[in-house]
Amino acid sequence: MAKYMENSVLKSKDFNWGNVPLLKYKEEDGTFRSIHRQVLSCGAPDLPCEMRYFEIAPNGHSTLESHEHTHLVMIIRGRGNVLIGKKIHEVKAFDVLSITSHEWHQFQTSGDEPFGFICIVNNERDRPHRPTPEELEELRKDPVISSFIRC
Ligand code: MN
Repeated sequence: MAKYMENSVLKSKDFNWGNVPLLKYKEEDGTFRSIHRQVLSCGAPDLPCEMRYFEIAPNGHSTLESHEHTHLVMIIRGRGNVLIGKKIHEVKAFDVLSITSHEWHQFQTSGDEPFGFICIVNNERDRPHRPTPEELEELRKDPVISSFIRC
């Protein structure tokens, strides 16, 4: 059973919500670089979602993955490039991204400023799936994607 929010206001300073723990992006290692997260809300019974803030340092990236659950993302800091499905998008603060089920996705910082975004997910969600060698080969058939992805 998810732990739900209470009424609260989280004060931020410099893209940090001070009383919220800074967490490792993921427990397993090797598929991402220079990224941390903060869980800002764990939703409510009638809004069973998590609101997370992720921040990727310059030259960093998230894991290349897909999964059944949807991501709703708003960039709030810096600039980056994001693979969604078969397209790479240049994005900046306040752009909004929707990533639907089973689309490959990866976030990468561009420029020398941290790249930060809010990501909302359902509380009940499946584990991310990383590409098999066969899926990676399929992805790499597109030269633009092939030169973009880091894994
Ligand atoms: Mn994901």
